[in-house]
Amino acid sequence: MAYDPTNIFAKILKGEMPCHKVYEDETALVMMDIFPQAKGHTLIIPKAASRNLLDADPAALSAVIPLVQRVANAVKTVTNADGIRLAQFNEAPAGQTVFHLHFHVIPAYEGQALGAHASGRGDDAELATLAAEVAAKL
Ligand code: 5GP
Repeated sequence: MAYDPTNIFAKILKGEMPCHKVYEDETALVMMDIFPQAKGHTLIIPKAASRNLLDADPAALSAVIPLVQRVANAVKTVTNADGIRLAQFNEAPAGQTVFHLHFHVIPAYEGQALGAHASGRGDDAELATLAAEVAAKL
């Protein structure tokens, strides 16, 4: 399937929609997920246009993984999580809901089940605070 440039993440990348931004450089944007599955759920979005991993430029993938690692470590430090899940979905049957490549960094807390995917809206004040704290640790 072709990349649709009207997807919500493309709009956020263009600055047409707001986000709780953690970090941005020429290759990627990092923001808090507004429907967090756990406290500290963060998204890393390569700027290069692709629906997902399957049609991504390998060079874009190579560039983004070190940033995914940095974000995972920063999120773990800020949230004091016991572990970090890395998730990335390809096409709707696999759970993808936004069709611009992104990586989920989702903290895991001992004894706490993973929340539902893209359901409860996070609190904006808490998301803004987390974004600033993660940014400071990157
Ligand atoms: P996917 O299922 O495509 O891998 O994940 C899309 C993610 O984007 C979901 O976790 C969902 O909560 C999140 N999301 C959807 N719309 C928005 C939005 O407008 N802003 C932010 N920050 N996250 C979003």
